[in-house]
Amino acid sequence: MSELFKGEFSRRQILTTTGLGAISAAAIAKMGEEPAAAQQPPTAQPTPRGGSLPPQIKFAPISEQTEVDAGGPPTALPPERRLGFAIVGLGRLALEEIMPAFAQCKLAKPTALVSGDAAKANQIAEQYGIKPQNIYNYQNYDNLRNNPDVDVIYIVLPNSMHREYTVRGAKAGKHILCEKPMATTVEDCKEMIDACKQANRKLMIAYRCQYEPHHRAMIQMIRNKELGSVRLIQADNGQNQGGDLNQWRLKRALAGGGCLPDVGIYCLNATRYLTGEEPIEISARTFSTPGDPRFKEVEESVTFQLQFPSGVLAICSTSYGIHEARRFRVFGSNAWGQLDPAFSYNGLRMMVSRKSSTNNMAENVTEVRMSEKNQFALEMDHMADCVIANKQPHTPGEEGLQDQKLMALIYQAAQTGKTITLPRVSGLDVTRGPAPRTLK
Ligand code: NAD
Repeated sequence: MSELFKGEFSRRQILTTTGLGAISAAAIAKMGEEPAAAQQPPTAQPTPRGGSLPPQIKFAPISEQTEVDAGGPPTALPPERRLGFAIVGLGRLALEEIMPAFAQCKLAKPTALVSGDAAKANQIAEQYGIKPQNIYNYQNYDNLRNNPDVDVIYIVLPNSMHREYTVRGAKAGKHILCEKPMATTVEDCKEMIDACKQANRKLMIAYRCQYEPHHRAMIQMIRNKELGSVRLIQADNGQNQGGDLNQWRLKRALAGGGCLPDVGIYCLNATRYLTGEEPIEISARTFSTPGDPRFKEVEESVTFQLQFPSGVLAICSTSYGIHEARRFRVFGSNAWGQLDPAFSYNGLRMMVSRKSSTNNMAENVTEVRMSEKNQFALEMDHMADCVIANKQPHTPGEEGLQDQKLMALIYQAAQTGKTITLPRVSGLDVTRGPAPRTLK
């Protein structure tokens, strides 16, 4: 591991309010550990662009040894050596979140745009310094194969279009980062995986939460048994979807479903990455308010329960008809931990509660505070890091495929009213690549 990439968290990133020491000292200590390699002098790493990553600048400690390490300044590749990303689909997510997030990236930069609206693409290209000749449309998209400015294609289109643009992008010789949900059918997901394998290109699904520090800290707490033995997970993700009846999210053919593949997938995915396990039983219900014109083709609300092999029971809810709720709580035998909000772009808050070690009548509820990171920048840098270091992404196509399979079973369970039993999968994180490393 390079000097550039330290343990999952620097000590400085994690600030706590009262009582944290009693709550998760082991997890926090582990997060702050420097891997052995980090003690070595900086070493260079080759990149596809023929360079090496710069060493981190080191300062003398600013605080006493009893205080947390400041972590040092960030380091980044110079612009000409960052990996170039082509953004496909210039909708709300691309323009409001992804394009601005490049400013926080250390290894990735935007170099091309693909849009059906030339005027909009020209305006965005000008704003972000993208060459006019690097603007494509859906017809000449395949010409990206001739563009050495582009290493990675980031697909930010309606769900049913993910398959086509992944397959064409891989055939054009580019690595693919694809928005969630991976597609609208299991067959499409498999085709996407096969196309990228055949082209020897990487495929990552943009599960931003799996790169976010609060989620990584919660995963680590659970895996370190900081909450004791986990028994229950409750997760809710919903919003009151706007009433434009022409939007693709309300069309089954384009969206693949309603709230479940759009926002419910965050609950499903969280239960899987928090436990590392795959469910062995699924039951579910769907409901749509009669007469609400938004829900002629897609469902309004879904509740589903998942049983995991270790005994964890997850209870999830998702809806397009409620005011925003984006949270989960993990109940262990000794403590509970929650993120609320958990699935928002920012403002995430982590709370942990356990009995006081000195007063059996008292409960210690503690906020674990850590500095905020741009989730889209983390995820895009991880993709670039995987290409540079030739690693499997943490959330590869197989991770998206598994959610797609489970969502199909959730619908089936709701339709039949029957509990579905699944074969037991042994091992943890079987659909994931190595944990993402924190870029210093
Ligand atoms: P959006 O409707 O705002 O943008 C979609 C873009 O696709 C638009 O530019 C539109 O012009 C283009 N498009 C091309 N062909 C189209 C067609 N036939 N019908 C409709 N639009 C077409 O959607 P969005 O919110 O940006 O979502 C895009 C993708 O990103 C979806 O897969 C969605 O699930 C995902 N998403 C992810 C997150 C996240 O947090 N990771 C958040 C929002 C959306």
